[in-house]
Amino acid sequence: MSQLHRIVYCSRSLIEGPRAAREAETRRILARSRRNNGAVNITGALMFSDDCFAQVLEGPLEPLTRVFERIQRDPRHHDVAVLNMEATENRYFPGWTMAYAGEDETKGDRHPLAHFSLQTAFAARTEAAGHEILDLLRKVVVSAVPA
Ligand code: FAD
Repeated sequence: MSQLHRIVYCSRSLIEGPRAAREAETRRILARSRRNNGAVNITGALMFSDDCFAQVLEGPLEPLTRVFERIQRDPRHHDVAVLNMEATENRYFPGWTMAYAGEDETKGDRHPLAHFSLQTAFAARTEAAGHEILDLLRKVVVSAVPA
């Protein structure tokens, strides 16, 4: 099997409409992602906030590349910026075909994402922003139950 790789990217959402409609479309993306990723051994986590997405994808290089190419062509977002891409020994999100941290989950002052601005990370587009997103998603997901 080819070596595991991990990619962290962020993008700007093009999903329009009221908040509930945007959240519903994101849930549809999530459902499709879980089905597709499970079939090709991809795991990861998706964040949606401030009209931006951030996503961590991990898995063998070949299916990872195929999935990411598909994602980049998706008309529901644009300005896709890769923040980190690295070979890795271990998955950070084992058991998660796609974990999710959305706007609802960021509510509450003590939540790990409460004081994080995805818009700022998106504007910065730095490797450090990628590590911050990865760390925050790990904190959120580690306390949840895999879907
Ligand atoms: P279908 O879901 O049947 O879609 C067929 C085509 O229609 C695709 O080109 C798709 O992009 C397009 N499409 C579907 N619904 C809409 C819509 N409502 N508006 C406009 N175009 C639409 N896919 C994964 O497999 N794994 C992931 O982890 C993943 N993460 C994503 C993260 C983000 C932020 C976004 C925006 C999309 C993500 N996707 C992911 C979806 C991905 O971009 C493709 O849409 C999906 O993989 C295609 O699945 P499918 O081949 O089963 O085709």
